[in-house]
Amino acid sequence: MFQDKVAIITGSSRGIGRAIALHLASQGAIIVASARNVAALESLVDDIEGQGGKALAVPGDVGLSKDVHALFAAAMEAFGRVDILINNAGITRDGLLMRMKDEDWDAVLDTNLKGAFYCCRSAAKIMSKQRSGRIVNISSVVGEMGNAGQANYCASKAGLIGLTKSIARELARRNVTVNAIAPGFIITDMTDALSDQVKEGLQGQIPLARLGEAQDIAHAVAFLASEQAGYITGQVLGVNGGMYM
Ligand code: NAP
Repeated sequence: MFQDKVAIITGSSRGIGRAIALHLASQGAIIVASARNVAALESLVDDIEGQGGKALAVPGDVGLSKDVHALFAAAMEAFGRVDILINNAGITRDGLLMRMKDEDWDAVLDTNLKGAFYCCRSAAKIMSKQRSGRIVNISSVVGEMGNAGQANYCASKAGLIGLTKSIARELARRNVTVNAIAPGFIITDMTDALSDQVKEGLQGQIPLARLGEAQDIAHAVAFLASEQAGYITGQVLGVNGGMYM
């Protein structure tokens, strides 16, 4: 499905990003994997190459403009094009508003929202020239619903939805689509920190009565990144077991 398409995936050292990278690679995409953990990225590249695929690790911090510059430069130097961008890197620094530290607000907004802005800006230049491209931003169900104790995270994820819709309008004429996926609660390191009691409570709010898996998100990403999704732009696809409708 993605034969020789070049896909940049941020935050692909583990969790959802890693699952997206493996899934797109299994369908022929050339993966440019980025995150801060070099060893984990190298292990992903080994896994993809072991399955007969092609991948390049470009370590970096998505919240730093210079690192994002270097990421896109490395992709262009190695492969000469960028067809797909998945903005997946994300962090949480939870706390109630009245006790939230400036650093916790800044760290979350810098990684989750500013990082996506840097990547979209770099991708837009390349994809506009190519007159084709797919951008998928990984938002969150709590960016749509809000969540007590996550004002910084929810603001960043709601911000991603505004970013998605605005640049979908800007880039549509260049045949570049921009969409967001809003995952519900997915089993990864990020949600591992939750107690069993919290997990059970969450499960009660999910009509499909299970937490999601990284694969659930990878499959939705693959659809939005595919040729078949060419008439879909500026949309937010909830992949949340029905917990928000
Ligand atoms: P995770 O297991 O904690 O993985 C987060 C990824 O982001 C890691 O690969 C991490 O790599 C990378 N990352 C963090 N900060 C970075 C930075 N400054 N620069 C570059 N990469 C950075 O989380 P996950 O659950 O897979 O989440 C992936 C995305 O889905 C996030 O955007 C998250 O907000 C979103 N999401 C998750 C859930 C869920 O329930 N799990 C629900 C809704 C939305 P390094 O540490 O190596 O840099």
